[in-house]
Amino acid sequence: MRIAQLSHLADPALCPRLVIKVGSALLVGKDGQPRRAWLTALVAEIAAARAAGQQVIVVSSGAIALGARKLGLAKGGRGSLADAQASASVGQIALAGLWAELLAGHGITAAQILLTLEDLEDRRRYLNVTATLGRLLAAGAVPVINENDSVATQEIRFGDNDRLAARVGQAAAAQGVLLLSDIDGLYDRDPRQAGAVRIPVVQGVTAEIHAMATGGSSSGLGSGGMTSKLQAAEIAEMAGMALAIIDGQPGSPIATAFNATRGTLFLPRRRHTARKAWLGGRLRMRGTVSVDAGAAAALARGSSLLAAGVIAISGDFARGDAVAVIGPDGQTLARGLAEYDAAEAARLLGHPSSAHEAILGYAPRSALIHRDQMVLL
Ligand code: GLU
Repeated sequence: MRIAQLSHLADPALCPRLVIKVGSALLVGKDGQPRRAWLTALVAEIAAARAAGQQVIVVSSGAIALGARKLGLAKGGRGSLADAQASASVGQIALAGLWAELLAGHGITAAQILLTLEDLEDRRRYLNVTATLGRLLAAGAVPVINENDSVATQEIRFGDNDRLAARVGQAAAAQGVLLLSDIDGLYDRDPRQAGAVRIPVVQGVTAEIHAMATGGSSSGLGSGGMTSKLQAAEIAEMAGMALAIIDGQPGSPIATAFNATRGTLFLPRRRHTARKAWLGGRLRMRGTVSVDAGAAAALARGSSLLAAGVIAISGDFARGDAVAVIGPDGQTLARGLAEYDAAEAARLLGHPSSAHEAILGYAPRSALIHRDQMVLL
């Protein structure tokens, strides 16, 4: 049986490994101080889950908000990238200390891991993260993860812990990701509008679902908002994980939401091989390959991408880099690893495979992107 309802995320048989993401506004009060009483209750829930046989990984925000107060920086430390980075480096100490102290109250060892986006985009580093998480969990620790905000630069950072949580879940081969938010799920329109209805279960993050999401964080403390939560849900569903958004605000938020079946559950959609799921969840592409309708149809049938069906390429990708495949309507159809670098691919585009050896001067590869190295979206 697979995870089909919210409370299944608490069932160690259906969800032996769960990622719990805690947003900044839950951890840090408006006064910039940690919300200890609330966190103490959450840690008790985590300890109970562990005692029931569930392995838990925490993805915790709050470093920037905590550090900003200590440094006396305005706008919760989010006035500039430099402010955020300085705040994070100060706040992370307090944040990790808090988790370590409260988990220790239940005899649980906390383990801190600070990740950058690149750590999870590079296959080798990703596998190292996988191994470390597995070892920590087997040894009984609770990993507490945050983005390494102090060193991550603007263009290569997650910026929100929602997608980080999904990527971490994927790296850990978790069955579920639970996002504790300041709202109890996805609504069919801006939840402040009259008549807005919460969607209890989502089967596939379609364009229609995306249209329901509204902009940034309502608390002003975090950076997520519903948009990044839906992106996290997309990563999760591709990795075969369930993801839920619940209201984290009540004391003991997990039991409260699960008992009332109050939240939004995104069902796992397809289970790719581990490698393809990693590829599909990658956030940075080195380039794009635009294809004609014939090639788009061939991809949908499971074929490799041949240069003959490519009409344009962009980006300075090298052989082995991840590229996005764009269909005639501008939609991203697939992601894959290029068999050629951008300059070689540019020379081949539009030409049938039979002409490639003459163009390149050497024996060509069987495709521009081989189907084994491609994931359809
Ligand atoms: N990593 C950031 C922090 O610890 C939070 C990112 C987010 O708001 O999701 O403050």
